[in-house]
Amino acid sequence: MNIVQLKKLSYDEVAKCNKCGFCLPSCPTYLVKKAESYSARGRNAITRFAIENKLELNEDTERAIFTCLGCGACTAVCLSSVQTKDLIFQNRECQVDAGFYPKVAKRLVKILEESHNISDEDQEDRAEWQELIKELPEDAFEKETADVVFFVGCVASFFPMVQKIPANMAKIMQSAGVDFTILGGEEWCCGFPLIGAGMPEKLAAMKDHNLKKVAKVGAKTIVFTCPSCYHTWHHFYKSDAKLMHASQLILELIKDKKIEFNKNIKGVATYHDPCDLGRNTGVYEEPREIIKAIPGLEFVELPMNRKFSVCCGGGGNVEMTDPDLSAQVAQTKLASIKAVGADTVLTACQQCVRTMETRAKRSKTDLVVKDLTQLVIEAME
Ligand code: SF4
Ligand code: SF4
Repeated sequence: MNIVQLKKLSYDEVAKCNKCGFCLPSCPTYLVKKAESYSARGRNAITRFAIENKLELNEDTERAIFTCLGCGACTAVCLSSVQTKDLIFQNRECQVDAGFYPKVAKRLVKILEESHNISDEDQEDRAEWQELIKELPEDAFEKETADVVFFVGCVASFFPMVQKIPANMAKIMQSAGVDFTILGGEEWCCGFPLIGAGMPEKLAAMKDHNLKKVAKVGAKTIVFTCPSCYHTWHHFYKSDAKLMHASQLILELIKDKKIEFNKNIKGVATYHDPCDLGRNTGVYEEPREIIKAIPGLEFVELPMNRKFSVCCGGGGNVEMTDPDLSAQVAQTKLASIKAVGADTVLTACQQCVRTMETRAKRSKTDLVVKDLTQLVIEAME
């Protein structure tokens, strides 16, 4: 997308920004950097000036535009409802067109096209997480037909720190008698990183492949432990299957008494709303209902919750383009969690777990970070 296209699509939207600055205290990158170009208002100004030919895209605009977390917190507080995240991602397409975009994004695209996963790993290793399951069924959760496809996603497939998430989800579904399959080496990246990289047109090949594989299984439902895969399927794929985040399926299983909790869990826990699950796709209550169904656990809300939740620092490909900024945002998040007296932060996203757990370890913070699937498994045992 070049500036002329952006002008047609987005000028009215960006012109809605009245520069009031209400969004400044909600933008995690602004709170860290304290510089206008790292805020929603500043980024909107860049987009507007670029459309008006008052500013040429360059390395400085690249830095500002590619350090947005895509969290959407700015829109949640904006009285004009400016869709800043969408404007920024459209601006990223212009940055790519003008040749000013992070080299790491170019590399990522090449890797995705060649390896079909973000880690440049062998696709046959996608189900490596199965090694965490003691009694793996003979079919290793790979069936030709099933009611449900469990779409695992690249991060949980290839990052050892979070491979327990698909292992836990598979155990939960197995124990509840859900007829599910994984796609194994046939699952390709959903394409979400391409949207953040400003190259959404390259999504088509991944989308077509994944849709075909799911259709072949004949599944009526697709379940995701990854909010970004879930979000991408919701907003960029066209599938007749019912799309469910893991928290929605688990809650259904609890209500249908297909899983039961036998163990008391001690401690004080809070919940971090992942941006792509909560604000960007609208799932807020199911994770909370699951947490409240766990015997013994004390639950406290963060002051900024649901649509006002603060990003963990793991969004928008910023971990790749500016790892220090991502780490500083994560540090701020951990401080807000500690401030409510929680010993555990629960979330429903492998990227949030990675970001917060890595930061907690590096800063020697005594905070336990858990995905909901882990909490459920612990309470079932
Ligand atoms: S994006 Fe919204 S809240 Fe932020 S400066 Fe513009 S109008 Fe104000
Ligand atoms: S989407 Fe998040 S990081 Fe980007 S400008 Fe808005 S609040 Fe800031």
